[in-house]
Amino acid sequence: MKNKQQILKHRPKGLPEFDTWELREIETPDLMDGEMLIEQHYISLDPAMRGWMNEVRSYIPPVGLGEVMRAGSIGKVIATSGETKFQIGDFLSGWGGVQQYVISSGEGYFKVNHHDKVPLSAYIGTLGMPGMTAYFGILEVAELKADDVVLISGAAGAVGSVAGQLAKIKGCTVIGIVGGAEKCRYLVEELGFDGAVDYKNESVSRGIRKLCPKGIDIYFDNVGGTILDSALANIRKNARIVICGAISQYNSTEVVGPKNYLSLLVNRASMKGMVVLDYANRYKEAAVQMSQWMESGALKSKEDIYEGIENFYPTFLKLFNGDKLGKLILKVN
Ligand code: NAP
Repeated sequence: MKNKQQILKHRPKGLPEFDTWELREIETPDLMDGEMLIEQHYISLDPAMRGWMNEVRSYIPPVGLGEVMRAGSIGKVIATSGETKFQIGDFLSGWGGVQQYVISSGEGYFKVNHHDKVPLSAYIGTLGMPGMTAYFGILEVAELKADDVVLISGAAGAVGSVAGQLAKIKGCTVIGIVGGAEKCRYLVEELGFDGAVDYKNESVSRGIRKLCPKGIDIYFDNVGGTILDSALANIRKNARIVICGAISQYNSTEVVGPKNYLSLLVNRASMKGMVVLDYANRYKEAAVQMSQWMESGALKSKEDIYEGIENFYPTFLKLFNGDKLGKLILKVN
């Protein structure tokens, strides 16, 4: 069987270019004893992929040149050899990479059960790594309490949209920061946020001041850069800032750090980084709770799905130009 794969060819400087990856087609090798052939359905496109392409190690080692681009994925077992961990027909979530087929022993994979109210694609979005990040980031790292005023950047993205909805479920006032009027409308009218700041068309500091006149208790940061500074200027006493990500800086050669950090001192506030992998042994508990919220309609899961492994590059760029809503996914089979 033929397998198309996206191979990392060059380490990009700044925004990746078309020739950063090469599309390769290989013949799938025969299965060895204990192995399964997984037909991949959905590939997860995540901002973290940009960091994995740099030479320096972040929280996991970089993708090697000449290797299949690393990515989370969902697929179906279509063939097995000997005794295997999973059976033909099982749907699995794991790190299958940007390719159409994977051969695996099943290590690092888990079985997913989808149905009408919880589609397969949700397992790489709200019930996958981004949803887990939102769950543990907002409920535990941020030490969320009812009545907190919560500000979230990247709020229409996979992590931000879930973090905001969880804070609403817990009784907080939630304001999102997004690019464009349509995303502001989406947050308020469809996800139930209390307000939205359009960072592309208004002053972020002024927007925050207007919507959070008494200041903010929690800032859940997905974007970093100058938006982090605007948030710092508007925190109140004992505020908690969660550094979840800094997408505005991932393609920069010179990272812009916070200038307003003394606001932490004045407000006895804290700023804490998080890595979702630290919560891996608790994903199940979060998934059970979040699927209940999804089934009751309290939590909406939005996936933006594009098709074709050949379209990996233009789809990947949507992470950075904002031309997508919710979790970005590539369907490859
Ligand atoms: P996502 O779905 O791709 O959403 C990211 C959104 O960020 C984009 O849709 C875009 O929306 C916005 N954005 C892009 N460039 C921007 C810029 N220069 N300034 C402001 N906003 C910008 O991403 P995600 O999966 O939700 O991830 C969000 C963040 O969490 C990322 O930084 C990611 O690296 C981080 N993360 C961290 C962990 C962890 O363990 N710490 C785990 C998962 C993800 P607009 O149209 O609004 O610009």
